[in-house]
Amino acid sequence: MQQEPCSFCHNGLTIPYIAREGAPNRTRVTVRVSRHGQVEVLYPRGDSPERAHAFIRERAAWVAAHVLAAQKRGASAPPPESPKLRYCLGRPYAVDILNAAHFHGMSVREPEGGEPGRLIISAPTGEHAEQLIRRWYEQRAREALPSSMERLMQGVPWLTKRPPLSFRHLRARLGSCSSKGSITLAYELIRLPQDCADFVILHELTHLRHMNHGPAFYAELTRLLPDWKQRKERLDAFPAPFRAEK
Ligand SMILES: [Zn+2]
Repeated sequence: MQQEPCSFCHNGLTIPYIAREGAPNRTRVTVRVSRHGQVEVLYPRGDSPERAHAFIRERAAWVAAHVLAAQKRGASAPPPESPKLRYCLGRPYAVDILNAAHFHGMSVREPEGGEPGRLIISAPTGEHAEQLIRRWYEQRAREALPSSMERLMQGVPWLTKRPPLSFRHLRARLGSCSSKGSITLAYELIRLPQDCADFVILHELTHLRHMNHGPAFYAELTRLLPDWKQRKERLDAFPAPFRAEK
Protein backbone atom coordinates (compact mmCIF):
# COMPACT_ATOMS: atom_id res chain seq x y z
CA MET A 1 0.00 0.00 0.00
CA GLN A 2 1.31 3.45 -0.93
CA GLN A 3 1.96 5.77 1.99
CA GLU A 4 3.75 9.07 1.89
CA PRO A 5 4.66 11.43 4.72
CA CYS A 6 4.14 15.03 3.61
CA SER A 7 3.49 18.44 5.07
CA PHE A 8 1.95 21.78 4.19
CA CYS A 9 2.16 25.25 5.62
CA HIS A 10 -0.80 27.32 6.79
CA ASN A 11 -0.36 30.74 8.46
CA GLY A 12 3.19 29.86 9.47
CA LEU A 13 2.19 26.50 10.96
CA THR A 14 3.77 23.41 9.39
CA ILE A 15 1.31 20.55 9.40
CA PRO A 16 2.60 17.05 8.71
CA TYR A 17 0.23 14.52 7.19
CA ILE A 18 0.09 11.08 5.69
CA ALA A 19 -1.43 10.48 2.26
CA ARG A 20 -2.39 6.91 1.59
CA GLU A 21 -4.52 4.73 -0.61
CA GLY A 22 -7.79 3.69 0.94
CA ALA A 23 -9.70 0.40 0.77
CA PRO A 24 -10.41 -1.04 -2.72
CA ASN A 25 -14.02 0.22 -2.66
CA ARG A 26 -13.05 3.83 -1.87
CA THR A 27 -14.27 6.31 -4.49
CA ARG A 28 -13.68 9.68 -2.80
CA VAL A 29 -10.79 11.59 -1.23
CA THR A 30 -11.27 12.30 2.46
CA VAL A 31 -9.17 13.95 5.13
CA ARG A 32 -9.36 13.23 8.82
CA VAL A 33 -7.69 14.68 11.89
CA SER A 34 -7.35 12.28 14.82
CA ARG A 35 -7.86 13.51 18.35
CA HIS A 36 -4.08 13.48 18.69
CA GLY A 37 -3.84 15.95 15.80
CA GLN A 38 -2.59 13.35 13.34
CA VAL A 39 -3.69 14.19 9.80
CA GLU A 40 -4.39 11.54 7.20
CA VAL A 41 -5.71 11.83 3.65
CA LEU A 42 -7.19 8.76 2.02
CA TYR A 43 -7.57 8.54 -1.74
CA PRO A 44 -8.99 5.91 -4.10
CA ARG A 45 -6.68 3.08 -5.03
CA GLY A 46 -4.87 3.70 -8.31
CA ASP A 47 -5.38 7.47 -8.08
CA SER A 48 -2.46 9.85 -8.09
CA PRO A 49 -1.37 11.05 -4.61
CA GLU A 50 -1.39 14.51 -6.18
CA ARG A 51 -5.17 14.46 -5.80
CA ALA A 52 -4.73 14.01 -2.05
CA HIS A 53 -2.20 16.87 -1.85
CA ALA A 54 -4.51 19.21 -3.76
CA PHE A 55 -7.45 18.15 -1.63
CA ILE A 56 -5.74 18.89 1.68
CA ARG A 57 -4.49 22.28 0.47
CA GLU A 58 -8.05 23.28 -0.44
CA ARG A 59 -9.07 22.45 3.13
CA ALA A 60 -5.93 23.85 4.80
CA ALA A 61 -7.82 26.22 7.10
CA TRP A 62 -10.18 23.51 8.37
CA VAL A 63 -7.30 21.04 8.96
CA ALA A 64 -5.14 23.68 10.68
CA ALA A 65 -8.01 24.61 13.02
CA HIS A 66 -8.44 20.98 14.09
CA VAL A 67 -4.70 20.42 14.55
CA LEU A 68 -4.46 23.59 16.67
CA ALA A 69 -7.40 22.42 18.78
CA ALA A 70 -5.61 19.09 19.38
CA GLN A 71 -2.43 20.95 20.35
CA LYS A 72 -4.41 23.12 22.79
CA ARG A 73 -5.78 19.98 24.41
CA GLY A 74 -2.15 18.99 24.99
CA ALA A 75 -1.97 16.48 22.18
CA SER A 76 0.48 17.21 19.40
CA ALA A 77 0.67 15.79 15.93
CA PRO A 78 2.61 12.54 15.84
CA PRO A 79 5.57 13.01 13.56
CA PRO A 80 5.33 11.33 10.20
CA GLU A 81 8.97 12.03 9.51
CA SER A 82 10.17 12.42 5.98
CA PRO A 83 13.56 13.19 4.46
CA LYS A 84 12.46 16.84 4.43
CA LEU A 85 10.99 17.08 7.91
CA ARG A 86 12.55 15.86 11.17
CA TYR A 87 11.55 16.21 14.79
CA CYS A 88 13.56 16.95 17.90
CA LEU A 89 11.74 17.06 21.25
CA GLY A 90 8.55 17.00 19.21
CA ARG A 91 9.39 20.22 17.33
CA PRO A 92 9.66 20.21 13.53
CA TYR A 93 12.82 21.00 11.57
CA ALA A 94 12.78 21.37 7.80
CA VAL A 95 15.82 19.88 6.09
CA ASP A 96 17.68 21.87 3.41
CA ILE A 97 20.45 19.99 1.69
CA LEU A 98 22.98 22.07 -0.23
CA ASN A 99 25.08 19.87 -2.46
CA ALA A 100 28.69 20.51 -1.65
CA ALA A 101 31.56 18.62 -3.21
CA HIS A 102 33.88 18.86 -0.21
CA PHE A 103 32.43 20.62 2.79
CA HIS A 104 30.41 18.55 5.24
CA GLY A 105 28.60 20.45 7.90
CA MET A 106 25.23 21.30 9.37
CA SER A 107 23.91 24.48 10.88
CA VAL A 108 20.76 24.44 12.97
CA ARG A 109 18.14 27.11 13.30
CA GLU A 110 15.74 26.51 16.19
CA PRO A 111 11.95 26.67 15.63
CA GLU A 112 10.47 30.04 16.48
CA GLY A 113 6.99 31.54 16.61
CA GLY A 114 5.20 28.67 14.85
CA GLU A 115 7.88 28.42 12.16
CA PRO A 116 9.71 25.09 11.96
CA GLY A 117 13.42 25.05 12.66
CA ARG A 118 15.88 24.36 9.88
CA LEU A 119 18.71 21.93 9.42
CA ILE A 120 20.91 23.43 6.75
CA ILE A 121 23.26 20.75 5.53
CA SER A 122 26.21 20.89 3.17
CA ALA A 123 27.07 17.40 2.06
CA PRO A 124 28.06 15.72 -1.20
CA THR A 125 25.45 12.93 -0.92
CA GLY A 126 22.19 12.16 0.85
CA GLU A 127 23.99 9.48 2.83
CA HIS A 128 26.45 12.02 4.25
CA ALA A 129 23.51 14.26 5.13
CA GLU A 130 21.83 11.39 7.01
CA GLN A 131 25.02 10.81 8.99
CA LEU A 132 25.09 14.46 10.04
CA ILE A 133 21.45 14.33 11.12
CA ARG A 134 22.06 11.11 13.04
CA ARG A 135 25.03 12.66 14.86
CA TRP A 136 22.94 15.71 15.68
CA TYR A 137 20.23 13.49 17.24
CA GLU A 138 22.85 11.61 19.25
CA GLN A 139 24.36 14.84 20.54
CA ARG A 140 20.96 16.34 21.45
CA ALA A 141 19.97 13.10 23.22
CA ARG A 142 23.19 13.08 25.28
CA GLU A 143 22.62 16.71 26.24
CA ALA A 144 18.92 16.66 27.02
CA LEU A 145 17.95 13.21 28.30
CA PRO A 146 20.30 12.97 31.33
CA SER A 147 18.94 16.29 32.63
CA SER A 148 15.37 15.09 32.01
CA MET A 149 16.21 12.04 34.11
CA GLU A 150 17.65 14.17 36.90
CA ARG A 151 14.58 16.42 36.91
CA LEU A 152 12.26 13.38 37.07
CA MET A 153 14.33 11.75 39.85
CA GLN A 154 13.42 14.64 42.14
CA GLY A 155 9.90 13.21 42.25
CA VAL A 156 11.11 9.69 43.10
CA PRO A 157 11.64 9.67 46.89
CA TRP A 158 13.30 6.21 47.09
CA LEU A 159 15.94 7.02 44.50
CA THR A 160 19.07 8.62 45.91
CA LYS A 161 21.52 8.61 43.03
CA ARG A 162 21.26 8.59 39.28
CA PRO A 163 21.49 5.08 37.86
CA PRO A 164 24.14 4.37 35.21
CA LEU A 165 22.74 5.64 31.93
CA SER A 166 23.75 4.71 28.41
CA PHE A 167 22.36 5.31 24.93
CA ARG A 168 21.84 3.07 21.97
CA HIS A 169 19.91 2.96 18.75
CA LEU A 170 17.15 0.63 19.83
CA ARG A 171 14.98 -0.57 17.00
CA ALA A 172 12.02 -1.99 18.86
CA ARG A 173 12.08 -0.31 22.25
CA LEU A 174 12.65 3.17 23.61
CA GLY A 175 14.25 2.14 26.86
CA SER A 176 15.33 -0.76 28.99
CA CYS A 177 16.49 -1.43 32.53
CA SER A 178 18.99 -4.17 33.37
CA SER A 179 18.76 -6.44 36.40
CA LYS A 180 21.86 -4.63 37.73
CA GLY A 181 19.96 -1.35 37.68
CA SER A 182 21.43 0.44 34.69
CA ILE A 183 19.19 2.16 32.21
CA THR A 184 19.57 2.30 28.45
CA LEU A 185 17.61 4.85 26.46
CA ALA A 186 17.12 4.93 22.72
CA TYR A 187 18.59 7.94 20.92
CA GLU A 188 15.25 7.95 19.07
CA LEU A 189 13.58 9.23 22.27
CA ILE A 190 14.92 12.71 21.53
CA ARG A 191 12.53 12.94 18.58
CA LEU A 192 9.44 12.77 20.84
CA PRO A 193 7.74 15.62 22.72
CA GLN A 194 9.15 16.06 26.22
CA ASP A 195 6.08 14.69 28.03
CA CYS A 196 6.22 11.41 26.09
CA ALA A 197 10.00 11.11 26.64
CA ASP A 198 9.43 11.76 30.35
CA PHE A 199 6.93 8.90 30.48
CA VAL A 200 9.48 6.46 29.01
CA ILE A 201 12.23 7.61 31.39
CA LEU A 202 9.97 7.34 34.44
CA HIS A 203 8.81 3.90 33.32
CA GLU A 204 12.46 2.75 33.34
CA LEU A 205 13.14 4.44 36.69
CA THR A 206 10.17 2.58 38.18
CA HIS A 207 11.85 -0.69 37.13
CA LEU A 208 14.63 0.08 39.61
CA ARG A 209 12.06 -0.79 42.25
CA HIS A 210 9.91 -3.35 40.41
CA MET A 211 11.66 -5.32 37.67
CA ASN A 212 8.44 -6.76 36.23
CA HIS A 213 5.20 -5.23 34.97
CA GLY A 214 3.05 -6.49 37.84
CA PRO A 215 0.36 -4.56 39.76
CA ALA A 216 2.96 -3.12 42.16
CA PHE A 217 4.90 -1.68 39.22
CA TYR A 218 1.81 0.10 37.88
CA ALA A 219 0.75 1.28 41.32
CA GLU A 220 4.16 2.89 41.78
CA LEU A 221 4.15 4.38 38.27
CA THR A 222 0.71 5.88 38.96
CA ARG A 223 2.00 7.42 42.20
CA LEU A 224 4.95 8.95 40.38
CA LEU A 225 3.13 9.99 37.20
CA PRO A 226 -0.65 10.06 37.67
CA ASP A 227 -1.34 10.86 33.99
CA TRP A 228 0.95 8.16 32.56
CA LYS A 229 -1.95 6.49 30.71
CA GLN A 230 -2.68 9.62 28.67
CA ARG A 231 1.01 9.98 27.89
CA LYS A 232 1.24 6.34 26.84
CA GLU A 233 -1.80 6.76 24.64
CA ARG A 234 -0.16 9.71 22.91
CA LEU A 235 3.08 7.79 22.53
CA ASP A 236 1.25 4.82 21.02
CA ALA A 237 -0.30 7.13 18.43
CA PHE A 238 3.16 7.85 17.02
CA PRO A 239 4.31 5.78 14.09
CA ALA A 240 6.89 3.03 14.71
CA PRO A 241 9.46 2.89 16.27
CA PHE A 242 7.69 5.02 18.88
CA ARG A 243 5.77 2.39 20.80
CA ALA A 244 5.51 2.21 24.55
CA GLU A 245 6.35 -1.07 26.27
CA LYS A 246 3.35 -3.01 27.39
ZN1 LIG B 1 9.00 -1.93 31.36
